[in-house]
Amino acid sequence: MMRTVPKNVIEKLKAAAGPNGWLDDTSDLSSYLTEQRRLFTGSSPLILRPDNVDAVSEILAICHEARVPVVPQGGNTGLVGGGIPYEHGGEVVLNTSRLNKIRALDPQNFTITAEAGCVLADIQRAASDSGRFFPLSLGAEGSCQIGGNLSTNAGGTAVLRYGNMRELTLGLEVVLADGTIWDDLTGLRKNNTGYDLKHLFIGGEGTLGVITAAVLKLFPTPKSHGTALIAIGEIANAVDLLGLARSECGDAVTGFEYMPGLGIDLALKHIPDARNPLSEVSRHTVLLELSSSASDWPIGRALEALLSKALENGFVLDAAIAQNESQRKSFWRLREAIPEAQRVAGASIKHDVSVPVSAVPAFIESASAAVVEALPGIVPIPFGHVGDGNIHFNLMQPAGMERDLFLKEWPRFNRIVHDIVDSLGGSISAEHGIGRIKRDELRRYAAPTKLDLIRKVKRTLDPHGILNPGKLI
Ligand code: FAD
Repeated sequence: MMRTVPKNVIEKLKAAAGPNGWLDDTSDLSSYLTEQRRLFTGSSPLILRPDNVDAVSEILAICHEARVPVVPQGGNTGLVGGGIPYEHGGEVVLNTSRLNKIRALDPQNFTITAEAGCVLADIQRAASDSGRFFPLSLGAEGSCQIGGNLSTNAGGTAVLRYGNMRELTLGLEVVLADGTIWDDLTGLRKNNTGYDLKHLFIGGEGTLGVITAAVLKLFPTPKSHGTALIAIGEIANAVDLLGLARSECGDAVTGFEYMPGLGIDLALKHIPDARNPLSEVSRHTVLLELSSSASDWPIGRALEALLSKALENGFVLDAAIAQNESQRKSFWRLREAIPEAQRVAGASIKHDVSVPVSAVPAFIESASAAVVEALPGIVPIPFGHVGDGNIHFNLMQPAGMERDLFLKEWPRFNRIVHDIVDSLGGSISAEHGIGRIKRDELRRYAAPTKLDLIRKVKRTLDPHGILNPGKLI
């Protein structure tokens, strides 16, 4: 593969992208070449910013013919190095920010057709303005884009109720490696005409094609929320409580997040607007949210009934119910403050893993014990979307240990944590994807047959290997 981009190719690419569709002045490039956590900084002579699908098609046809690698990029909020070029400078970046039109909104079909560069928060707003609801919600929603959400199969805080991007997508428009445009922008909910090929591109991390637009599902707007912060005695009670909540309240269970006492302590210490509504910080706390789109469902009574049943069953020690929207926001703020507080408090080694929901307690307990045995003083702060079996298993540096020395331990802790995840039938990447950071881990834990199929699909769709090479596989 070429390690420099020939000058004549650069000129052709600029012409294809149009007068405002490219950047090559080094002073403009840094935000496109560095990932948020600064774990990856790449190099590229050209950032392409086309504003229509025909230009994307022309760009890929040129790169295909000249064997020039292309790194698709959305809002650059992914944290695994997937949207950042390598350091050698022989790749061009195809940023989708100007592909940002909402092409259609069909309230009766409950769908929105949006281009890949639409910012997630703008899609939420457009849905809401039409009396509908788009449920994907995550910390980076003010800057991440639909194409990036699709390519990483993003989840968020309401996966339990609505699913992740795979479940939220009906159709795609994709530009293939040789520039062919595949228009499959269907708004159908039933369509049994063979392989459902969109799923190759969702979660594909830009290695099989460039997504240019999507038809996304909309939902009725929730009319009421019931939100509680609940202190529980042990982690196993989180799973008991979730089971009870789902049996009692069905699909109304929208969010179910776990927070350890140490994480809440950190948030209260470092994040000025974090508040704990409970009288004391418990070792284990859960944020439970019910929501309903029905006008007459007594959500407050349902939540109270659920909590008293959980109390009777011994799953719950104490609980606070949000009395208004500002309290609800404050409960969620406490949850969001945990990773922010960790950043302030020191270096963390992070794992974004999932196990079956029933195995969450076993995972947290055995992984916490194993990491403390491997490095006394290390502080495990497991938190997150327990309702989906997805735990952010973050490890904070021991007091007094030098930051860089600690971060060098990352591969050793990957092995410890991922071996436990694997033994419980889990996944080494539940949210952020593989990118650069977990390529070796994927090779270690994926079944050989799966790896073989991935390589065959990649060779078929991208025979010259120009699409995001060195990412995912
Ligand atoms: P980028 O970072 O630009 O790209 C991500 C990957 O997609 C790269 O491999 C890139 O090459 C590829 N890509 C981008 N656009 C396209 C395209 N149009 N076609 C083909 N490939 C493309 N994730 C969750 O799932 N749940 C969470 O709760 C969550 N919370 C987060 C909170 C914060 C504060 C942050 C920073 C991240 C969080 N994430 C979460 C990660 C999340 O996946 C990403 O933020 C988001 O989905 C990526 O969108 P992006 O536009 O920034 O993509």
